Amino acid sequence: MEEKMLVFLKPDGYVRKYVGARALKEIMKLEPSVDYFGEFRPDKMFMSDKHYANLKGKPIFEWLIRYVTSTPIIAMIIGGEGIAQKVRTLLGATLCENADPSSIRGRYGIGRGMNVAHASESAEVGEKEVNMWKSMLNILEGADYESKAREYIEKYENYPMIDSIRFREIGGDLNKGKIKADEAKETFKYFIAQETDLDIDSLDEFLSVSVDNFLR
Ligand code: GDP
Repeated sequence: MEEKMLVFLKPDGYVRKYVGARALKEIMKLEPSVDYFGEFRPDKMFMSDKHYANLKGKPIFEWLIRYVTSTPIIAMIIGGEGIAQKVRTLLGATLCENADPSSIRGRYGIGRGMNVAHASESAEVGEKEVNMWKSMLNILEGADYESKAREYIEKYENYPMIDSIRFREIGGDLNKGKIKADEAKETFKYFIAQETDLDIDSLDEFLSVSVDNFLR
């Protein structure tokens, strides 16, 4: 049976253009139907009270909401047989360091919970998330969202990328107290500036969240 699911590129997948395009390319190889593709800036209330409401009370919750609202995201509604399970397999385990090194999160995540993309974890959750998000997204009847996804991939799939291991090394040094937070932030800024076409000065909160990721 065809099921629907929500996928979104989280801020690291949105800012690091190659990483996002690569993740989307792998997902598109599954040949899903594409009911929506677009940039979207979710507000804190929607993410904390709706999308991630089930995680309220977890120690990472406040950080998670800051992370996912630190930049716009790329949201997608896709469909296909067993699609949720297939996409989740491509993504790999939640924490990058535990994810299979050949999976999207294992290869491209900045580290820990900064893990490139969200994907509904099952058909049931997919249905719930799609209903929740549909009311927020401006979905146009008859629009060719599959072409929009492919155009985005084509635009960014040859962008430069800094090896994610370098982010994890800096994060590890920061966590162990070998370097200071402002030094880590400057290095992340230097890396990200090479990977994005966004104005680097608009990414201050994203860079702060990336540093805090390794301090908790
Ligand atoms: P998912 O379905 O694999 O995305 O995992 P969850 O629904 O359990 O968690 C939602 C998101 O919260 C994850 O994708 C991570 O970004 C973040 N997260 C969950 N657990 C942890 C954790 O133990 N540490 C950190 N840093 N982030 C976490």
